[in-house]
Amino acid sequence: MTVSNVELYRDLRNAVGEICRRFPNSYWRELDADLAYPDEFVRTLTEAGYLAALIPEAYGGSGLGVMEASVILEEINRSGGNAAACHAQMYIMGTLLRHGSDEQKRHYLPRIAGGELRLQAFGVTEPTTGTDTTQLKTMAVRDGDHYVVNGQKVWISRAEHSDLMLLIARTTPLEAVKKKTEGLSVFLVDLRTAVGNGVTIRPLRTMMNHATTEVFFDNLKVPVANRIGEEGHGFRYLIDGLNAERILIAAECVGDGRWFIERAVKYAQDRIVFNRPIGKNQGIQFPIARAHVNVEAADLMRIRAAELFDAGRPCGAEANMAKLVAADASWEAANVTVQTYGGFGFAEDYDVERKFRETRLYQVAPISTNLILSYIGEHVLGLPRSF
Ligand SMILES: Cc1cc2nc3c(=O)[nH]c(=O)nc-3n(C[C@H](O)[C@H](O)[C@H](O)COP(=O)(O)OP(=O)(O)OC[C@H]3O[C@@H](n4cnc5c(N)ncnc54)[C@H](O)[C@@H]3O)c2cc1C
Repeated sequence: MTVSNVELYRDLRNAVGEICRRFPNSYWRELDADLAYPDEFVRTLTEAGYLAALIPEAYGGSGLGVMEASVILEEINRSGGNAAACHAQMYIMGTLLRHGSDEQKRHYLPRIAGGELRLQAFGVTEPTTGTDTTQLKTMAVRDGDHYVVNGQKVWISRAEHSDLMLLIARTTPLEAVKKKTEGLSVFLVDLRTAVGNGVTIRPLRTMMNHATTEVFFDNLKVPVANRIGEEGHGFRYLIDGLNAERILIAAECVGDGRWFIERAVKYAQDRIVFNRPIGKNQGIQFPIARAHVNVEAADLMRIRAAELFDAGRPCGAEANMAKLVAADASWEAANVTVQTYGGFGFAEDYDVERKFRETRLYQVAPISTNLILSYIGEHVLGLPRSF
């Protein structure tokens, strides 16, 4: 693929854009004020088949690549919406697809593709261990044909709006494994039956509307049949899904960045102060121009990473770099847009402050900037390991 081939996705962009226009910025603004979940938007997107982009046709999906999937998420953010309400289904599903049994795939994937089941919750982070996943404390202890799960997760987004959760838990205590990455396993938890029977979900209020929660496990029984792949190999399954996640998030950042730049340019042209459009002042113009350059440059890295991913080639470095530069570029564009709007940048009615809060997240989640730099330092540049 070359950059100009992005034009090939024009039809896809237009089709997603058409759905997004039915959910204008006022829709997202009102949800934000009420901290409400965009149920109607997610339903519409699911019914149109877009959330099943990465599910193979044999299982009822559209069998597209990460490139196309990333275009879908980009367009949502580009329109002023927030793909974080539903993006996880795209990358979580990959774990089931790559490591699930034939029976699991036959049972779940067509139902996810058809919208009968939502797999939007991903239970990794814990309050006491943070980014250091191997230290997680949630334990799943085998007892005959099921596991008994005890522990706690934090920042588990969309758990209240998902039927299934992909959960990572320890099945062998840390003291009993040779390598700390061993002894973790992945489960598919059916939240429809688990809530009230071993699972308690508590919403967490955050600076943006993100439907995130704390999840408590108290002797939750999970059938052995719901374990994905082999016991003890969960860390590798988790790592396997990260490149897709990084690329998809990078695309959301590019979408945000383009939304901000478009807004900043229009406002800089329209706003008259001292009898001239503020955009005539290079003090306003140059920061917008620089932010635009950085968003477009980040897009190239995202395209490169997606291209490698879809060709089945290693892309860890590119996927991580794409996420880093795209998150930085969208944050720069957000800042520049607030500055361009002046006081109105803080007014809810203009949506800039909402998008500003939303795009700030990408510096921290799903992976923080420092951890990407650490990956690049150690694994790409061969610098000494620091932890
Ligand atoms: C709104 C929101 C939604 C989320 N959704 C989910 C979800 O659905 N599922 C899920 O499992 N998790 C989710 N997360 C969790 C998210 O992935 C973590 O917040 C993120 O990975 C950082 O972990 P932490 O918050 O525990 O930070 P910590 O690990 O405590 O780190 C705190 C800070 O220290 C830095 N740091 C830590 N160690 C080092 C080091 N060795 N070198 C340099 N810097 C370091 C980090 O980069 C970070 O900036 C969500 C978080 C938020 C805020």
